[in-house]
Amino acid sequence: MSGYKKPLPEVTPWSQPFWSAAKEHRLVFQHCPSCELNILYPKLFCPNCYSSDLQWMDASGRGEVYTFSVIHLHPPSPFRDSLPYVVAIVQLDEGVQLMTNIVRCAPEDVKCGMSVVAEFDDVTDDFTLVNFRPAAM
Ligand SMILES: [Zn+2]
Repeated sequence: MSGYKKPLPEVTPWSQPFWSAAKEHRLVFQHCPSCELNILYPKLFCPNCYSSDLQWMDASGRGEVYTFSVIHLHPPSPFRDSLPYVVAIVQLDEGVQLMTNIVRCAPEDVKCGMSVVAEFDDVTDDFTLVNFRPAAM
């Protein structure tokens, strides 16, 4: 796992619970009990009612491709060896969205509305990334 060369996300104090959960192969999001809004990406306060009393909840890990792009070209970088790859916005069943990669699927087979499930990639000893694969496999 120490051979991973791509840049890793920047972890902030308010996103640390997300990354800690990912390391445990759990996908989590925030929930605001005051207004019932589900929130992702991690925030310090609710963007709807400004409450700072946010809770972490486990997601089902299921969702669908909201939109995506197939990356065919890349300047010299650690991403070049992965071409072509799919960057997508996935909408979880809980209503929140996140940017991710669609894996275990030929790029030409990815479709908007396709059902996907979370898959956890332990890229380093300390870091796990959340990707998605087709639900029907
Ligand atoms: Zn709220």
